[in-house]
Amino acid sequence: MNVLTQAAKFLRLPADSLAKLQVPERVTRVNLAIRMDDGKLRLFTGYRSQYNRARGPYKGGIRFASDVTEAEVINLSAWMTWKCAVADLPLGGSKGGVIVDTKELSRGELERLSRAYARAIANIIGPNQDVPAPDMYTNAQVMDWMVDEYAKATKQNKKTARAAFTGKSIRNGGSLGREEATGLGGVYILQELAKKQNLVPSQTTIALQGAGNVAKHFALEAAKLGYRVVAVSDSKSGIYNPAGLDVVAVFKYKKSGESLTEYREAGAKNISNDALLKLEIDVLIPAAKEDVISAKNANQIKTKYIIELANGPVTPEADQILAKKKILVIPDVLANSGGVIVSYFEWLQNKRDEKWAKEAVFQKLKKQITGAFSDVWAIQTKNKVRARLAAYILAVKRVTKA
Ligand code: NAD
Repeated sequence: MNVLTQAAKFLRLPADSLAKLQVPERVTRVNLAIRMDDGKLRLFTGYRSQYNRARGPYKGGIRFASDVTEAEVINLSAWMTWKCAVADLPLGGSKGGVIVDTKELSRGELERLSRAYARAIANIIGPNQDVPAPDMYTNAQVMDWMVDEYAKATKQNKKTARAAFTGKSIRNGGSLGREEATGLGGVYILQELAKKQNLVPSQTTIALQGAGNVAKHFALEAAKLGYRVVAVSDSKSGIYNPAGLDVVAVFKYKKSGESLTEYREAGAKNISNDALLKLEIDVLIPAAKEDVISAKNANQIKTKYIIELANGPVTPEADQILAKKKILVIPDVLANSGGVIVSYFEWLQNKRDEKWAKEAVFQKLKKQITGAFSDVWAIQTKNKVRARLAAYILAVKRVTKA
């Protein structure tokens, strides 16, 4: 039984209400004919899944990847529905995708594809309908092109059209603080967990899988607060210092584009990605990719807490094993919601024609995500269920009540 069904059962949701939550409200498929640099037309298939809008306009990213499938886009749109509901945002869930390997496209081809996709879905999106954002292999530049094309297609001026997309460049209405949001949100969650579990930062050891945007902002802020970040890894290798890494130096080194294989620091040694997950530490932060903790290695995980900053890093089978081992897992739908929370702030700023200072964004982010943590924690402790189920109970309750 998946966690959605478990939550529905807990809430004694009638079968017809559950059935409604198990399918998207609308899935759109578009075939895009793009003029390539060699003069020939090439066809690309794209999707937009609009899962649930009970709580407000649909919200969800657009990914460009060769392995995009309709089923995956639908799954991700469901996930967005629960994530927005846990964070108590007045938004629903959606997701989009185009089957393409962006590494094979020139900049001009990427722009034409982005514009064609925005034009193709222009009549089903909008500030009060569905608000896309970047996801894998799309970025602020892609959003800026899409806003421009959406404005043209719907004959709006660009200022009103910008609220139809988030994750834009700052000069085109993007929000300050979006870059740091997910990592920082993860630290706010860590602080709440520390309060509940009486963790003392200087005595709390943390291992981070991943060294990208999310991992970096998490590590820098956690270290600033005095936590002991002892291990960090990228796709090739990791680095481990039981006394605590100099994370400022680690991420300065990463910025130069090098893999951590060659990174050197007194007291530190190389560690494989696999071994990093099995370290005896207090908090493990998967911040790279999905399914890294599975039935294969879950039994060897020795951390006390896991905060899921990546999407789906723990498989359902592993989740059961970790629960038996009494490892507390703070689920992705709660832990990595910092990004969508600040996307919501961007949408609000655009709609109100405001520009918030970075400090104000961080303050509001902290309030929103710690509120979500308290709501999940209350359900978890009252009903003695694991945090993931508590988060889904909260989400399903909010979506069905709306
Ligand atoms: P990123 O591309 O900046 O970084 C990914 C990192 O993962 C890189 O350091 C890469 O070296 C590392 N990596 C790749 N394969 C690995 C492997 N097998 N083992 C260890 N490390 C590996 O991506 P990001 O924006 O930091 O996102 C990381 C995760 O967080 C993803 O799962 C993403 O879906 C999730 N997430 C991101 C955001 C956001 O705002 N960026 C929001 C919510 C969730």
